[in-house]
Amino acid sequence: MAFGPAEIERLVRIELVAALVVFPVLFLVPAPYGRYQRRGFGPLMHARLGWVIMEFPAVVVPVWAFLAAGGAGACGGAAWLLLSLWLLHYTQRTFLFPVLMRGQGGRSPVMTVVLAIVFNCLNGVVNGTSLAWLGLDPARCAAFPPRLLIGVGIFLAGFLVNLHADHVLRTLRAPGEAGYKIPKGGAFRWVSAANYFGELVEWTGFAIAAMTPAAWAFAAFTAANLVPRAWSHHRWYKNTFPDYPASRGGTRHGAPGWPR
Ligand code: NDP
Repeated sequence: MAFGPAEIERLVRIELVAALVVFPVLFLVPAPYGRYQRRGFGPLMHARLGWVIMEFPAVVVPVWAFLAAGGAGACGGAAWLLLSLWLLHYTQRTFLFPVLMRGQGGRSPVMTVVLAIVFNCLNGVVNGTSLAWLGLDPARCAAFPPRLLIGVGIFLAGFLVNLHADHVLRTLRAPGEAGYKIPKGGAFRWVSAANYFGELVEWTGFAIAAMTPAAWAFAAFTAANLVPRAWSHHRWYKNTFPDYPASRGGTRHGAPGWPR
């Protein structure tokens, strides 16, 4: 079963509407996991298992959609490259990230996992199908335009920032230790949520490279999902640590600070 252009367009619109809804909601109600975990969001499940279950569709659904839509045809070098980058990110996120997570007893709301599965299926269908079409469209077969290479470079830079930031956060706690510390180094010199910053750079680069409505919708959704959470983290750090670096997040010593 493959999706046609009208169906993909409708699904991309749904993703954009979801981004418009999620953005203000997450400013008001931070997603209830990690430091914002609280009662009232239904049953909980093992956090590590939750990561694997919710991210797994982001590995298999785009591949299935890509192949069902024709697998990029004869001139799909760019499409295969972009699908490979997608899989680089999501195999890391699905299979390596949960294994490396610290803490044995973490719990996540089942609701968060279910919503992520729905989103990953939707996003996988629109992006997998759209990537396949890149290689089927004679007008877009022109091998590797500079815009594509620039986008790939931005994606890879964001990927490295995200990997490094996740590593810094993971190693803040000694094995068995709980609580939060101030992350330092890498992009944390400038921003409070370097992992989210890297992720946003990645999908923006991907959208520049692919130049499809589906890839831009994903970049928009990533921003809608992560900017409010980054803002919450920034406020949380500033409220929690009196010695939090004033230079982080756009403020300098002696300049007015961000709202607390
Ligand atoms: P967080 O920064 O909230 O937490 C990441 C891990 O680091 C958690 O195990 C957390 O512990 C720990 N941690 C975070 N801050 C500290 C600190 N100051 N001191 C000690 N430990 C800390 O990230 P998320 O869990 O939200 O995201 C994880 C990855 O998934 C990121 O790379 C992110 O970019 C990606 N992601 C992508 C999304 C998208 O829309 N594309 C959506 C959400 C995440 P604890 O759990 O106890 O808080």
